[in-house]
Amino acid sequence: MEKEKLDYLKNLLEKLIVELEGALDANKETTETVSLDDSIGRLSRADALHAQNIALSLQGNIQIKLKLARQALDKISKGDDYGICVACEKPIAEARLEAMPETPLCVNCSR
Ligand SMILES: [Zn+2]
Repeated sequence: MEKEKLDYLKNLLEKLIVELEGALDANKETTETVSLDDSIGRLSRADALHAQNIALSLQGNIQIKLKLARQALDKISKGDDYGICVACEKPIAEARLEAMPETPLCVNCSR
């Protein structure tokens, strides 16, 4: 991959990581709001638990994405072959990398 392209994708990854870290922080409050001692009514408690469950699964997704983004950035800084599919070892399309620079898989292997 050309250095310019790589720098561009590295920049995207750095921004993505900052964004995801911010999202995790914002989401943390929701996952921590419900505790067993809450003396709120049964219905609102169910609602709160529901919101907490959504927040928890969202947080899981963010954490996975964040991990992938950090791994991708690590590859770039080490000069490893970033942009190569980890499953079939073919180059990942640049348009795909621009849309999700953290992906370790090409479009075929991600299906
Ligand atoms: Zn592949």
